[in-house]
Amino acid sequence: MGPEPRGATALLARPGSYLLVIRTRVRLDLAVGRLGQRTFARGWHVYAGSARRGLGTRLRHHLDPVRPVHWHIDVLRQAGEIAQIWAVAGAEPGECALARAVAALPGATLARGFGSSDCRCPGHLVSFRRRPTLGGLSPDLLRLPLPWLVGGHA
Ligand SMILES: [Zn+2]
Repeated sequence: MGPEPRGATALLARPGSYLLVIRTRVRLDLAVGRLGQRTFARGWHVYAGSARRGLGTRLRHHLDPVRPVHWHIDVLRQAGEIAQIWAVAGAEPGECALARAVAALPGATLARGFGSSDCRCPGHLVSFRRRPTLGGLSPDLLRLPLPWLVGGHA
């Protein structure tokens, strides 16, 4: 199951924002709600989201592939595999700032309108050919080991 990163259990009980890194091994054409048909290149896709009622509940939703499709990201999540999850508790920096920071990384391609129905951002999903380095985006951003999360702590 792996060791718990320092403070991770407490973090899951709090509201906050997170980055979901999804890997897709083939090019995909997917129907994404009102956005219609979208093409996703093979590679790494980083989604910025937030959980007002607790990170654990939301991350559990993302980790469960059999849930009904509710958000844009659910469509891509079912077609790919979760490679990494990063989270930060509290109102700052927030999902929109995280999305902007990810979109500013080298090699970023923004998926316009994806996941940003409730804000003014151009999009909350950013795609990369190669695995992006996310650790430096925000000082308190913590990578949650997936075996630990799946082990029931989420
Ligand atoms: Zn936004």
